[in-house]
Amino acid sequence: MPEATYAIISDLHANLEALLAVLADIDALGIQEIRCLGDVVGYGPSPNQVTDLVRARCVWTLKGNHDEALVHGAYRFNLRAKLAIDWTRDQLEPGFSTDPAAFKRWSFLTGLPLRHEEGSDLFVHGSPRDPTSEYLLASELQAGLHEKFSEVFAAFGRRLFVGHSHLPCVITDSRTVLSLEELNGCFSLPGEGLKAIINVGSVGQPRDGDPRACYVVVDGGTVHWRRVEYDIEQTIARIAQIRELDVSLGERLREGR
Ligand code: ZN
Repeated sequence: MPEATYAIISDLHANLEALLAVLADIDALGIQEIRCLGDVVGYGPSPNQVTDLVRARCVWTLKGNHDEALVHGAYRFNLRAKLAIDWTRDQLEPGFSTDPAAFKRWSFLTGLPLRHEEGSDLFVHGSPRDPTSEYLLASELQAGLHEKFSEVFAAFGRRLFVGHSHLPCVITDSRTVLSLEELNGCFSLPGEGLKAIINVGSVGQPRDGDPRACYVVVDGGTVHWRRVEYDIEQTIARIAQIRELDVSLGERLREGR
């Protein structure tokens, strides 16, 4: 049976303009199946619309640390991220609302699963050891944190798909880090029995210096990164209108940092 083709999106962060541009790109490619690795909300100005679109379009969605912070509180968050989550919770929590859509959004976001396994592929927001919060950074490997990566590589069979750092890259089990430039935007495991951690990048807040929205298309054994331009100035203007969202959350979108 041929392996499926699907898109993986992650770290949308309530950025409606970026998500709409990515969905249009996915539709133009004729891809039917979309999977989401979490951080649907947090930082951005459109939590309700982005949650509704994710519910409508994704076959499954995992929980990110920002989605988790809606319920558990924004521990270990910096001040501007915490203020953004508190504002986001105010937008989403149904409270005394009689709007059924509000309840559906809230139960969707608070009930998201932590991981998805499919054959020898594993999908999480952060890492298998701590699915919502642990980072798997290329810089940690370069700094010699080999024990951590040994544990992580032991936790999956072939491919581990993650988001969370907003830094698209591949880390192989021979401990090689491959940037998107080195990969030329495309990766396949070079042989049987090899493993890789694949970071899909961020739709709503890229941090690799490229401000375009980032996601991947998985076509059987091959992963293709896609970069999509969107109306960044509109997102920045919407953030600027919300007092609780720090202006830097808009400005960083322009830099892709
Ligand atoms: Zn994130």
